[in-house]
Amino acid sequence: MSDKAEIYLDNAATTKLDPSVLRRMVDVYTSNWGNTTGLHFAGKKAASFLESARSDIAKSLNVKPSELLFTSSATESINTVLRGIISTGELRKKHIILSAIEHPAVYKTCKYIERYGIELSIIPVNKQGIVNPSHIEEAIRPNTILVVIMLANNEIGTIQPIWEIGNICHENSVPFLVDAVQCLGKIPLEIEKCKIDFMALSGHKIHGPIGVGLLYIRSDQSISPLLIGGTQESGRRASSVNLPGIIGINEAIRLALNQQKAEQSRYNKFRELVANSVSSIPNAIINGDYVNGLKHILSISFENLDGELLAMHLNQKGIAVSTGSSCSSGNVKVSRILAACGMPDAWAKGTIRVSFGRFNTYDEIQFFSNVLPDSVKKVRKIS
Ligand code: PLP
Repeated sequence: MSDKAEIYLDNAATTKLDPSVLRRMVDVYTSNWGNTTGLHFAGKKAASFLESARSDIAKSLNVKPSELLFTSSATESINTVLRGIISTGELRKKHIILSAIEHPAVYKTCKYIERYGIELSIIPVNKQGIVNPSHIEEAIRPNTILVVIMLANNEIGTIQPIWEIGNICHENSVPFLVDAVQCLGKIPLEIEKCKIDFMALSGHKIHGPIGVGLLYIRSDQSISPLLIGGTQESGRRASSVNLPGIIGINEAIRLALNQQKAEQSRYNKFRELVANSVSSIPNAIINGDYVNGLKHILSISFENLDGELLAMHLNQKGIAVSTGSSCSSGNVKVSRILAACGMPDAWAKGTIRVSFGRFNTYDEIQFFSNVLPDSVKKVRKIS
């Protein structure tokens, strides 16, 4: 085994499971492994654990238990809404509004359902990646069936004016779907205040289990199921329920909300360290909205540098970050998000994303901040 440092700064991609979450899950695997639909003692015990987790989560999110659907991921939650909403109601040309910087779970699903005659309005963002709510209001038509806007972006951390957008949707009687995957335990979700009808969340971004998602469905909204079969989740999602995962996400949400304030102030200190390091590097910028954006995500662009080479160089030093571009067959494809923010290719190609989590320490961020300037210098020479 290598004794090289392992500094994981890719927490927006996924996070390490919290040991307390794992303990809860192991308990379920060992002593409460019944199928929640069973009519016997094992099934009854499992069903009661399931409903008690649903009630706990509902309390944490300030919603009703009946408004929560357990899924396998945020991607499934988003697909459930998008593919469910187009299959209900009258068969007329339907129209969906989304922003240009939605996650592929939204963006690609919307592009996919275009083949069923759905019309899309893709709302542009400004340089910081922020949607102007009045552009959404102008885009609403009599046949608009849904507005989808993420609460905060996973690549650049920009937070959207969800309160204004929610009110516009409400006044126009258009359902509003919010992807809040990067926000749980980071900023308040304010589901009621922002008049949100559907919200997608995920366990593995908050030191909870991978393969567990949540879908909030406001009680006056209904949705046709994506998975058809058994009667689980009141007929809204067939398939045997992942009880260990659900008990795990419940614990992960509890921890994330309890620690939210303290973690945010830690991440603020981390950001300052990295920002100081970036300011010492020529032709380097921090993308998005540094002041008001999510505290755990920093997208950094370096002009005339290959971001993948920089990520590989940092990996050799034991530091894991992600890039803002992808390379296939030698062609570098820049991020759709950075392009939507109007970033020139010469900068977008040289982008890395650094994202913090509960298990990062100040010393780790200091180490990263110290090695970054020299790494950029070396990689620029070979880019
Ligand atoms: N939405 C955002 C903003 C994300 O960051 C992600 C994960 O990267 C997803 C949706 C998809 O989440 P999941 O992995 O639970 O499907």
